[in-house]
Order: sequence, then C-alpha cells, then structure tokens
Amino acid sequence: MVSKQNNRKWEIEKVSSASPHLWINDSLKNFDEVLPKLPLSLNDIEDAEARLIRFAPLISNLFEDTREMNGIIESQLIPAPNLKRSMSNNFDVDLKGRFFVKGDHDLPVAGSVKARGGIYEVLHFAEGLAVESGLFKTSDPYLIIKDDEIQSIFEQYTVSVGSTGNLGLSIGISASALGLNGCVHMSSEAKDWKKRLLREKGVKVIEYEDDYSFAVKSGREAAADDPFTYFVDDENSRLLFLGYAVSAFRLKNQLNQLGITVDSNHPLFVYLPCGVGGAPGGITFGLKHIFGNNVHCFFAEPVNAPAFLLGMLTNFEEDISIYDFGLNNITEADGLSVSSPSRLVGSMVKNLVSGLFTVADDDLFRFLYMLKESEAIKVEPSATAGFMGPIHLQHNPLGMDYIKEMKLAGSIENSIHILWSTGGSLIPDDEYVKFLERGNS
Ligand SMILES: *Cc1c(COP(=O)(O)O)cnc(C)c1O
Repeated sequence: MVSKQNNRKWEIEKVSSASPHLWINDSLKNFDEVLPKLPLSLNDIEDAEARLIRFAPLISNLFEDTREMNGIIESQLIPAPNLKRSMSNNFDVDLKGRFFVKGDHDLPVAGSVKARGGIYEVLHFAEGLAVESGLFKTSDPYLIIKDDEIQSIFEQYTVSVGSTGNLGLSIGISASALGLNGCVHMSSEAKDWKKRLLREKGVKVIEYEDDYSFAVKSGREAAADDPFTYFVDDENSRLLFLGYAVSAFRLKNQLNQLGITVDSNHPLFVYLPCGVGGAPGGITFGLKHIFGNNVHCFFAEPVNAPAFLLGMLTNFEEDISIYDFGLNNITEADGLSVSSPSRLVGSMVKNLVSGLFTVADDDLFRFLYMLKESEAIKVEPSATAGFMGPIHLQHNPLGMDYIKEMKLAGSIENSIHILWSTGGSLIPDDEYVKFLERGNS
C-alpha cells in the first residue's frame, strides 16, 4: 500500500509537470457527516435566495435582459445530445448518460457565472447601505432604492474588486447600475475588450502588469483605509460563495421540470471550471445540500494554473502559490488564471468535491469549437474546462475506479452529466472567430 503522504508527493510532482491530470479526492466524505460541521448552512443559502427574490423587481427595472425572467438572473439547462455524440466521435469513446450544458455563459447582466456571486455581493452591500440610511426597510418595495435621496448616498460609495475580467464585469456593471461607483483592479491577463466595456459603463479600471493575486492584494490595500470603499474579496468571500450556491435550488427546479430525478440509480455528475474556487465551490456546497451523495462534483483547471488542486494536495497552507511549484499561470482561460486558491472555499469543500482535473489550452479550444458546431453555443475558453470530465470518468482508469468504488457501474447508463459553461456571451465576434479557428486547427 502506498501511504497517502507518498501518494500526495507523487501527485504534486505530476501536477507540477503541467501535463493533464485527473485526481480523485481521497478525502471525500459522506455529505451528512460534512455539512453540519461547516460554518455556513442551508439557511444561509435560503437567505441569499430570499434576498435575490426581494431585489428582483429592481433588477428587472435596471437590466432589460432580466425582464423575461422577472428580474431573476438565471441560465438555461440545455440538453446537449449532439455534443455528447461529437465528444464520443472525437475521442473515440462510447459516452453514456444524458448530457446537459448549464448555460451560465449566457447569464444576464454579466455574461458569466460571476453574475451569480458578484452581483449577489453587490446587492447585499447595497441593501445594507440603504437600510443604514434609515430611508429604507427590507419590507419596502425595492424600487425605492432608485429614489434621489438614497441615490445621493449611494453615489458617495465605491464597490471595488480585483479581477482577471469577469468578476470585474459583474461587480462593475451591477454597482454602477445601482448608482454606486465601481472600481476594478485588473490583472495582466484581463482582455482589452473587458476593460473597454467597463470604462464605457463608467467604471474605473486600474491596470496592473502583474497577476491576479497581486491585483486582489492591491485592491484590498487601497480599500482598507477608505470607509467609503467596499472591497469584494474574491479570495475570501462568504457572500460570493452563497451567491453561487443559490444555483443549486434553481438547477433542482430545472431538473424537476424535465422530469429528471436524481438518486442512487440516477447519479448526477457536475463538471465545473475552477479559478480561486468560489464559483465551483459555492455551487458544490449548494448541490450537496440538495442531492447529497448522489451528486458528484469535479473541478477543472488549466494545466498551468492548478491553484485549487495544489491547494487540495497541500491542505491549503497559507500563501500557497502555483509559482512555488514551477508553474507559470499562462493560459487563454483568463477566468481561471489564478495563482492561489481561496482558503475559505478550500475549508468548505475539501471533503465534498469528488476530484479535480487539469486541461491543456488546446483542449479548451477544441471543445469550444465542438460546442459551437454541435449545439450552436458560443463560449469563452474558460467555459469548456470541465468538458473532459465525462471522458475521464468513463474512460480513464482512475475515473473508472471512482465509478466502481462508488458502486455506480450499474447506473452509468442512467447518469446525468452537467457541463457547467461559465462564460462567453459578451465576447466580441472578432475575438470569438479567432477562438474557433484555433479550435478547428
Ligand atoms: C471566475 C470564473 C470561473 C471560476 O470561478 P472561481 O470563483 O474563480 O473559481 C470559471 N469560469 C469563468 C468564465 C470565470 O470567469
């Protein structure tokens, strides 16, 4: 028997070599052992959902693209049988189960999964500020927030954030629509069009020739001694986490509407692109509350930026960074290009996530092209990081061992696979054409 210690050392070496890798979590536990011990509960997710519902009339008023859904920011669950076929053909494997794309690439307002966590945290802050003013109670209609008196208070405040792009878009766009000021500290990966779009919306953009952790640190420091600046701390935010977690309720309803039940004979597999861990972690936390051991969550990271996987393998020690393992953080998946994981998220999901895998950039583009060809869905490179998941589980010996160990071999025919597509609807066409060309070469 190889000891866990030795095993981890080998895993770390493997991950440090920047080649694609699947890691099955040897610390996965029963959900009912884990959840009661965590500092956040189902109540907290319900509280977040209730806040989003209270805000819905105002959201609907502020953002035209949310009107159809009455101000609820949610994406579609899209059946993807053609993608399944295309993946089977491309990788010469026989994939089982029903395939879906969870379409967060097309979430209203911000065009990425950040429209969940980011906007939720801005709303939470705005609500607190309005209540504090004495001009508003949470039982009032939320449109009152647009009144001049409250707006004249809001305009004194700034919501600031460090971002590789998408978080900045969600925070900046929502803050400025609410009448707050937005300020985004952008790392060097951030795409020019994302900066341009923010500036057009009146958001202040500060650019750094450094990476994401540096941008976050700079933003955090700039906000620290300013009572009129609220800093959204992506590496350490319970509110972002809860905003993401709400998606689990929504997904449950969508599965119900399709008549799909999840149980031990119909296991649910969810594949989530991962940066600092907030989005996939929050979603996993929510899903575990609803589907327990019948949901299997896998996170996916670029081979050059496996911050969360290295966090898992080293128990999320302080100041852990991928650079210390000789990795360079270079990837076209700008949404996942982070050097350090969120330790808060690590502590929440280290016993809930089933495994992680890393993906080469070429495969991100290959899937991006395949998704367009098979289902006419437009996404950014970060959004396809999870697509290798079903192939790993059904055809990689390590994944197949997981299926066997979980006693799922007999139910894989009935399995449900959700590829969480996390961003892309706002990409300018000329950029997207280049992505397609790379994916088709
Ligand atoms: C931010 C982001 C993620 C991952 O979210 P984290 O909270 O950083 O783990 C995934 N995909 C896209 C497109 C993103 O922008």
